[in-house]
Amino acid sequence: METNRRKFLGQFGAGVGALSMLGSLDTYALPENTKKLGIALVGLGSYSEFQLAPALQQTKLCQLTGIVTGTPAKVDKWVSKFKIDKKNVYTYENFDKIKDNENIDIVYVVLPNSMHHEFTIRALKAGKHVICEKPMANTVKECEEMIATAKQVGKQLSVGYRLHFDPYHLEIRRLTAEKTYGNLMHIEANFGFGIGDPTQWRLNKKLAGGGPLMDVGIYAIQATRYGSGLEPLAVTAQQFKTGNPKFKEVEETLLFQLEYPNGLVANCATSYAFYIEKLKIYAEKGFYELSPAYGYGGFKGRTSEKEISYPAFNQQAAQMDGFADCLIQNKPTKVGGSEGLQDMKIIEAIYKAMETGQKVEIK
Ligand code: NAD
Repeated sequence: METNRRKFLGQFGAGVGALSMLGSLDTYALPENTKKLGIALVGLGSYSEFQLAPALQQTKLCQLTGIVTGTPAKVDKWVSKFKIDKKNVYTYENFDKIKDNENIDIVYVVLPNSMHHEFTIRALKAGKHVICEKPMANTVKECEEMIATAKQVGKQLSVGYRLHFDPYHLEIRRLTAEKTYGNLMHIEANFGFGIGDPTQWRLNKKLAGGGPLMDVGIYAIQATRYGSGLEPLAVTAQQFKTGNPKFKEVEETLLFQLEYPNGLVANCATSYAFYIEKLKIYAEKGFYELSPAYGYGGFKGRTSEKEISYPAFNQQAAQMDGFADCLIQNKPTKVGGSEGLQDMKIIEAIYKAMETGQKVEIK
């Protein structure tokens, strides 16, 4: 991930605000006679190095015990920086041997999107629980196969949707669930940024599966789903290109409209050409919004009456402890494979609507 993308996602990470609602946040403590669960990160790129590995130094129920990489030159630095035992280091080729390693309970797949399916299935077949980064895979079919494999081997599969654990996003859900401002009337959700290096995998259709929709537009889809508590019925979509040769293979800017039940529409945008980042929900008696809305922290939130504000919070630590807690307590994760599958169904419908110019129903 180039610096500008990392910077914009993380720039507000240290922001601190007044505490107004932390009641629904989970706090974790390791039960007596229980060992922290071991996590192996697969793919040591930007997100692993700058977000997940540091977060794993703060987690209460799980810790970083292993790494899987295709770049041998990274191993020494990782082993010394994060105190990883060399016997817990794997390559993409010998990765399946992880099945004999008792220090690794969870495999976290943080590779380019097209590799999620293969590595999730291999990890599940090696008897490990899996967290797979978003987007879960490049097609609905792949997501279905991943879910079926998890079921077959009796292991849990989660998707790296960190915002399900963030206090601002939990507050948005609460405002909707409790109908604080009455029935919802309209939603605006958008996420985009100006992408850098033209040679990166994010601009390669085969590796990325698509453009900004797969990468950051997916947050807008997610937010309209949990922000409304509903599932979309149909979609229309329009793409716009400036002619920049970077966008030969993937869309550059995409507008899409998700039609929800009862005439509720979510007007959405995603782009690799410019920065845009908002979630705004209009209800009968007021509104609530986050802008910025989807980074690693430092959100600005308000309702039509007052500010929404929380102290700095580590989303990734909460997300990984949340998953470890489910494994320790033997309960299902709140962000299972079906969440990723549903988003992929919507994404496939959006691309179909974009290509045909027709309204597409989401089945
Ligand atoms: P990155 O480009 O920084 O890292 C990708 C890693 O995959 C590198 O270590 C690279 O060596 C490896 N790799 C293996 N085969 C490759 C190939 N053929 N081409 C390119 N790289 C290859 O990417 P990233 O930003 O770390 O993203 C990895 C995954 O994490 C993506 O699925 C992305 O959507 C997801 N992600 C999620 C979040 C989040 O907030 N949840 C944030 C960033 C990235």
